[in-house]
Amino acid sequence: MRSSVRLVTNGTIHTGDPATPHAEACVIQQERLAYVGSADRAADKAQALSSADPNPYETLDLRGAHVLPGLTDAHMHLDWYALGLEQVQSGTDTLDTCLERVADRVEQTPEGSWITGLGWDHNLWGGGFPNRQQLNRVAPNHPVALVAKSGHAMWVNSMALERAGITCETPDPADGRILRDPLGEPTGILLEGAAGLVRRVQPLPSVEELAEAIRRALPAIHRLGLTGVHDMGGADDLRALQRLRVEGNLTLRVLKSIPLENLDAAIQLGLESGLGDTMLRLGHVKMFADGALGPRTASMLQGYDDAPEDHGVSTMTPDEIRQTVKRATTHGLAVAIHAIGDRANREVLDALAALEPAQRRHPLQPPASVPHRIEHAQLLHPNDIPRLGALGVVASMQPIHATADMEIAEKHWRARCRGAYAWKSLLRAGARLAFGSDAPVESLDPLAGIHAAVTRCRADGSPGPDGWQPQERLTLDEAIAAYTRGPALTAGMADQLGTLRPGNVADLTILDCDLATSQPQQILRAKVLATMVAGELVWYSGL
Ligand SMILES: [Zn+2]
Repeated sequence: MRSSVRLVTNGTIHTGDPATPHAEACVIQQERLAYVGSADRAADKAQALSSADPNPYETLDLRGAHVLPGLTDAHMHLDWYALGLEQVQSGTDTLDTCLERVADRVEQTPEGSWITGLGWDHNLWGGGFPNRQQLNRVAPNHPVALVAKSGHAMWVNSMALERAGITCETPDPADGRILRDPLGEPTGILLEGAAGLVRRVQPLPSVEELAEAIRRALPAIHRLGLTGVHDMGGADDLRALQRLRVEGNLTLRVLKSIPLENLDAAIQLGLESGLGDTMLRLGHVKMFADGALGPRTASMLQGYDDAPEDHGVSTMTPDEIRQTVKRATTHGLAVAIHAIGDRANREVLDALAALEPAQRRHPLQPPASVPHRIEHAQLLHPNDIPRLGALGVVASMQPIHATADMEIAEKHWRARCRGAYAWKSLLRAGARLAFGSDAPVESLDPLAGIHAAVTRCRADGSPGPDGWQPQERLTLDEAIAAYTRGPALTAGMADQLGTLRPGNVADLTILDCDLATSQPQQILRAKVLATMVAGELVWYSGL
């Protein structure tokens, strides 16, 4: 039998605790930290703790490696991400490579079963959209549906069109377009809502399939150094995660959001935010106040610079937001509201400000209380920035969106970009940040997010050494805190995780270098040597 005591030594531990930021070693007993401090005292402590144990304590030799508190992605979609990993990866350099991958999948798939994929970008393939005939040649007897990287187009073959009942007579749906050739036949490209015609005939994964996909995705998540996620996926995720947990296969801490459509059911059952344990816990009611920046559906106080009449789209009226927030909070449920544009953000803040002071607070007392959060908070009016701090609302943001979106933000928001992705201003104004990726929309890699947060540059160095809107860059410590303490606090678990303090859970991300002394560009090359959750190594390589 293994010892329940583990000494982690011979490296540098960045505790995330401002009172004692660095340590040489730590001692773990079962799932928690028993000591954090000097190497000598750690060895004594490990000895003392294991004296009653029939097995001597184990030593994890860091060999000079650097330890951070376990990194958490505070906004991702576990179902899309895990299921996406199983699909045909269509983001290839050439069309032929993509078709080869489909052909390979055809070999392994029973005839008549769906083949799905994602990630293609026809701009890399010379411009024009691909067509159904190309897919038919490699997949004559399987329905195939490949979603574009943008998410706004779907490429299908003839059998998929047939299953969906799409012919030359099918009218375009109100929210999309079926591309057609000169004879009026569908080409195999479905834009926006037209993809829904195919989606509704595709089988949904069963809970077993979803659980299996998540189980297979866990190593890919841990190898990035992640010890936890806040899952914005659907309700089936909760079932799948419980199944994994019962089987002893849940190695990732998950804060699970509640889709708005399930709010009534949650209230009837008496579910409250914070129910669960440190591994699997109920989070926030997730709702949408507006759309997105790219398609100009983010809800704006003033029109878009390149379309002054266009103010975007509100997906809930201010009244609906207010009533829904009130209903959720009255029943002990904290809210997570998607808001991109400055109008949407203002309306959400107005709704939170309108709550009675008692409701503004989750029924539990801090640190167990679960604060409300705004998802994305991409553009805030300068007057609204201080309100997040004043109301105790967490800004749940994705640094990689800032660098991915900078050109389109400049086009749509021009001078207003000073208040876009305003991490530093938010921190200065007392707001708390929780960072994530929105994976699979963007890369799940937290080091890519930390790099974007401290540089406001893309991986290729653009737009230049100072980055985009450099006044909003964060320090490394601030960025790491937004992947550690921020998510812990948002989950109502600040007293148990997010920092490496005695008594906290032993979640560690072990890196081959010190990010603090690295050039920003090197952050992207840092290697995760090992990831530990609750005292167990859930992934390692080269340690
Ligand atoms: Zn999302």
